[in-house]
Amino acid sequence: MFAVDLARGMWTTLRSMLERPVTYQYPEVKRPVRERFRGRHALKRYENGLEKCIGCALCAAACPADAIFVEASENNDAARYSPGERYASTYEINMLRCIFCGYCEDACPTEAIVLEHNYELSFTQRRQALYTREMLLDSVAAGGQPTPMAVPPGAFNRAIPEMKNPD
Ligand code: SF4
Ligand code: SF4
Repeated sequence: MFAVDLARGMWTTLRSMLERPVTYQYPEVKRPVRERFRGRHALKRYENGLEKCIGCALCAAACPADAIFVEASENNDAARYSPGERYASTYEINMLRCIFCGYCEDACPTEAIVLEHNYELSFTQRRQALYTREMLLDSVAAGGQPTPMAVPPGAFNRAIPEMKNPD
């Protein structure tokens, strides 16, 4: 009986020696995530550089963890941040509160807030867990301009772009 148990134990050891390792040598090797993985948020821009966020705070209202703070200010055509009347002059997400449910993304009428694949969120002080508008905003695409920008009068009066029906 002892010999059988010993052989079984040795077989288990031998088998695990032949298996491929499952350990990732992070941070040199990063584990790929699924397409629908919800990581750190990003605030999106249009191609011309205008910010998609219009400061409506629907994301904050939808957030079950009370993790988002939005304060809106008025746009004007000499210094425009986003289409429409208002933009988010303050936008903060407290990552210590966030549970990455994605409700903010679902609630946003302009598809401004998106949970992307970045999971490298580490901080040593509570203050560092507050991700500000500047930290969350995407960089300007090639050919676009940074905000605020001067635009022709009346060119961007609609806060929510005309949506097309899905095919
Ligand atoms: S992912 Fe969920 S918990 Fe996190 S900010 Fe958005 S709504 Fe709030
Ligand atoms: S991210 Fe979307 S829902 Fe939140 S304030 Fe901006 S436009 Fe409104």
